[in-house]
Amino acid sequence: MKELDVLAREVASCRKCGLGSTRTHAVPGEGPHDADLLFVGEGPGWHEDQQARPFVGPAGKFLEELLLSIGLRRQQVFITNIVKCRPPSNRDPLPGETTACQPYLERQVSLIHPRLIVTLGRYSLAHFLPGGAIGRIHGVMQWRDGQAIFPCYHPAAALHQASLRRTIEADFLKIPAALDAARAAAEPAEAAEPPAEQLSLF
Ligand code: SF4
Ligand code: URA
Repeated sequence: MKELDVLAREVASCRKCGLGSTRTHAVPGEGPHDADLLFVGEGPGWHEDQQARPFVGPAGKFLEELLLSIGLRRQQVFITNIVKCRPPSNRDPLPGETTACQPYLERQVSLIHPRLIVTLGRYSLAHFLPGGAIGRIHGVMQWRDGQAIFPCYHPAAALHQASLRRTIEADFLKIPAALDAARAAAEPAEAAEPPAEQLSLF
């Protein structure tokens, strides 16, 4: 079994925080295991908890529209969340819950090895860029420890607020260029690495 599938199984039966006993289904995330783009939201809502899939409610529908605006179908990107189980009544995740769940996300990032991580909302931004102010850095690619990160507002917040909606729509249109820039920055470094068979000589 592929490592991401092993991880998804672990998440499905995880009880490392209290959300494990209030959820209906855990939502590990889904998408191609070698996706260039990784979208990270906050946590499952009611629809996601019912279906065990990320972003399948109204926010998900909007996310799909945003993806289509840049020529992408959701099946082409990996989509997951900061916490994999729904906080009751859609409350914000507690610090202990995000901390308990963090290792799953870190494993996903290292297994998928995305070129660009798009953070959706402030919890996701806080994980990847602690202290980053969304009002200042949304729609502008950031680098942290060699990883390219593209902060966006959360689609659920933007859905019913006209000005935020225009902002997230405009920010999404910048994702293809950000992805190209992230690829271009990564490729010379990778090309310079010696081939694996040379490494194994020692
Ligand atoms: Fe486990 Fe994360 Fe679910 Fe908590 S939220 S039970 S840590 S999978
Ligand atoms: N909002 C999120 O942050 N994640 C989902 O999966 C759905 C809604």
